[in-house]
Amino acid sequence: MNPVLQAEQLTKTYLSTDPPTQVLGGVDLAVTPGEFLAVMGASGSGKSTLLYCISGMDRPTSGRVSIEGTDLTALDDNAMARLRLTSMGFVFQQAFFLGNLSIRDNILLPALKATPKAQAEAVVRVDALMERFGIAHVGSHGITEVSGGQLQRASICRALAAEPTIVFADEPTGALNSAMTTEVMGALTEVHRGGSTLVMVTHAPDCAARADRVIYLRDGEVVDSLSLGTWTADDAEAREIAMLEWLRTNGF
Ligand code: ADP
Ligand code: MG
Repeated sequence: MNPVLQAEQLTKTYLSTDPPTQVLGGVDLAVTPGEFLAVMGASGSGKSTLLYCISGMDRPTSGRVSIEGTDLTALDDNAMARLRLTSMGFVFQQAFFLGNLSIRDNILLPALKATPKAQAEAVVRVDALMERFGIAHVGSHGITEVSGGQLQRASICRALAAEPTIVFADEPTGALNSAMTTEVMGALTEVHRGGSTLVMVTHAPDCAARADRVIYLRDGEVVDSLSLGTWTADDAEAREIAMLEWLRTNGF
């Protein structure tokens, strides 16, 4: 199976510091269609930098990234922005919603921009997503009138609204309490079950235990990986134990 995303020998060095900081030291990565990959590692190990470089939010210093065969490193800024809008979904620790728009309009906006010639379809799709992720009833609310878990489920709807090839999440539960974390991880598991390809950065072992595969970053290099297979509620506990043991061997 051809990978959806492929990274080869990715490096990232920040020249703004003296001496320059090498944050990624030659990362190779392949993500297969429908895979749920988690990226773990200590704080400062380069997880976010890797996510930004493979999703076109930042440019690597060297190496190659391709999504469905399109070489991101060859795209200019406009083409990159277009590809991000149409082919990638993003979920961050914070939702980055516009305060003057309702929850529903925040979800709709990028989808309408991505498919300007199919606006009616986008509206239907967004309403179905909001129904599926249990936030249809708060669609008209302002962004301060919903819970953190609802806001993050809205971010997930926004990420899926343009039917992206791949969804990227950076610490999607990083600002949530444990009940909301369970709620949002349930939603992300549902995204994966729906067939989406998902790459999630997290420092939470119980969240990473939901993934098919976990890679471990140390000082900007992938030093280990763990294959877990598809998550089911029945083996949640066994997976978490395996995760914790694996993390311990990596000094987490
Ligand atoms: P993680 O997400 O694993 O916590 P990051 O990818 O955010 O790690 O950061 C990795 C390292 O890169 C850190 O040491 C951080 O200080 C450094 N770094 C991140 N962004 C910049 C930047 N714009 N300029 C210089 N150093 C940076
Ligand atoms: Mg980070």
